[in-house]
Amino acid sequence: MNYRKLGSIDWKVSALGFGAMRLPTKKILPRVDWEESIKLIRYAIDNGINYLDTGWIYGLGASEKVIGEALKDGYREKVFLVTKLPMFLVRKTEDFYKYLNQQLKSLQTDYLDAYFFHALSRNQFNKVKELKLMEKMEEAKEKGIIKHVGFSFHDTLPVFREIIDYYDWDLAQIQYNYMDTAIQATHEGLKYAHEKGIAVVVMEPVKGGKLADPPMEALEIMKKASTQRTPVDWALQYVWNQPEVGVVLSGMGSKKMVDENIESASNSGINSLSEDDNIIISELAETYRKNILVQCTACKYCMPCPSGVNIPENFAVLNNVAYTGKKGGMSFLINRRYKKLVNSRKKLNKEYPNGNASLCTKCGECLEKCPQQINIPEELEKVDAILGKGKKISEFYHQN
Ligand code: SF4
Ligand code: SF4
Repeated sequence: MNYRKLGSIDWKVSALGFGAMRLPTKKILPRVDWEESIKLIRYAIDNGINYLDTGWIYGLGASEKVIGEALKDGYREKVFLVTKLPMFLVRKTEDFYKYLNQQLKSLQTDYLDAYFFHALSRNQFNKVKELKLMEKMEEAKEKGIIKHVGFSFHDTLPVFREIIDYYDWDLAQIQYNYMDTAIQATHEGLKYAHEKGIAVVVMEPVKGGKLADPPMEALEIMKKASTQRTPVDWALQYVWNQPEVGVVLSGMGSKKMVDENIESASNSGINSLSEDDNIIISELAETYRKNILVQCTACKYCMPCPSGVNIPENFAVLNNVAYTGKKGGMSFLINRRYKKLVNSRKKLNKEYPNGNASLCTKCGECLEKCPQQINIPEELEKVDAILGKGKKISEFYHQN
């Protein structure tokens, strides 16, 4: 494992951090498999990972509790542990301690190495100011419950700059990968935070798994590279190559993923990519931009939908259609995947959301929740037209 500087914090951080958002789940239901998750977290720590990131809603609320169990037997002291205040649930100032105390209890610890405001956007940042939550953060820091203060971010560069300038933050967590250098906090934002001595934590280095599953055109580009890498390795190396990046989070759901990512981390380095590598990455980014129709990262923040629509699955199927349209010959598999979703409320599964796009009533409940600012009902309407009614993609999206 390679270790890196974590901004101005006195902690040599593993290049790879464990993002506990996508823990192993039981086979049928999307519920966290506790036993497997505990084993996996400990395995990652035993193999050099020393940064652990979680959140109130991760694993449908189970992630913090599982981590609490995994960090028994001396594991707690080995990691830099971070969780986040669920901003979308905070209504009043007192909620700060209501959630923090519950999180400490779930995590079975009396301190956090860092506490973040979760998913700050313009609106959530206004809430931080209106409810004077910064003062609460400082108070908790003085009490020693929180060692460092940070935020995770989903909005645009001007908002990012404003937040950075607002406080003397220790850490900032941003979405960054070779496709997203000009959206969200952007590459400029990454540099801006770094110049201020803030540790930058990168999430979504593989864009919610999308860069791990390349269209044929992207595979062809990778094949011609002088250094052969897996799609995931290309994505990760791009992020580690940036001197401004502290730790890169990966949501690892299996031992195989941990092993592969650790191997990548061991081969990583600042400014270690060649000129040829950088050309390949620019070509890959260009290809992906043409092929991804809806920029959904499958974070599931929009779920549950009151009408039972499985929002990320509908977008995943549509994106796959765009990919396979170019690969050819796979459309029957895609159709089968879409047909597994139902178009009638009577057929909805109570345990697991399985509704297709046609069930969206445009209630708008999901709109505020999407960190990618996707107009979900509008995009679902297109999914229904294309996958449900057989319309052509080109009627709704421009593909080169
Ligand atoms: S707008 Fe559609 S997808 Fe969003 S919550 Fe309402 S019914 Fe569900
Ligand atoms: S639509 Fe938005 S909130 Fe929902 S899973 Fe996709 S990225 Fe996340």
